[in-house]
Amino acid sequence: MAKIDEAEIERLGLEFEKKSPQEIIRFALDKYGSRISFASSFGAEDVAMIDMIAKIKPGARVFTLETGYLFPETHDVIKRIKEKYNIKLETYAPSESVDEFEKKYGKLYDTDTDKCCSVRKIEPLNRAIADNLDAWITGIKRDQSHTRANTKKIEVDKKFNLVKFNPIADWTSGQVWAYIRENNVPYNVLHDRNYPSIGCAPCTKPVKPGEDPRAGRWAGKGKTECGLHPSK
Ligand code: SF4
Repeated sequence: MAKIDEAEIERLGLEFEKKSPQEIIRFALDKYGSRISFASSFGAEDVAMIDMIAKIKPGARVFTLETGYLFPETHDVIKRIKEKYNIKLETYAPSESVDEFEKKYGKLYDTDTDKCCSVRKIEPLNRAIADNLDAWITGIKRDQSHTRANTKKIEVDKKFNLVKFNPIADWTSGQVWAYIRENNVPYNVLHDRNYPSIGCAPCTKPVKPGEDPRAGRWAGKGKTECGLHPSK
């Protein structure tokens, strides 16, 4: 694991405020080579980012977490993205199938979402992070929720001891969708049915007009993030 120079990250954070997502992605991929990967759940932000990443560096690493609870529509967009783009997609899944898991614990997404996320998302994420990574890239945006409002375009991820790049942190949803349409990027059809943010099927609901884009995630369960990205 490369040593992280926090002062340099701070300086780059200021510099990156004026740079385009593509400039930041190019910098990140040039600097970290095969030791950086893009974390994707194939939402609108992520498919736009994959389009940029694959154009800048064909064959770049992308990873995803397959909890076993994804929507069929999410599997469909993953298939279409894999067909269209030259990316190295690495999938990390829990060691137990959903059947084995539910035989042991029941439906934890109803009774203990933190434990369910811990087993089905965070443990596979830890394996992804341990897989030769010094840095990761995300599609996080500041306007997604109040917990993401202070996201910097480059920051030290203290939880995982990685450098974290958030190249579209200052984009709006309008900019993301304009990019998707201009570049003909495949996207999850659930976005057309009032699902601005899409996670596991049992924990994702459509949102009403004017609601926070992530309001449909763990709605009524007192949870806003699964642990991949800290609540700030
Ligand atoms: S989002 Fe829901 S179903 Fe998915 S891992 Fe977390 S609690 Fe389980």
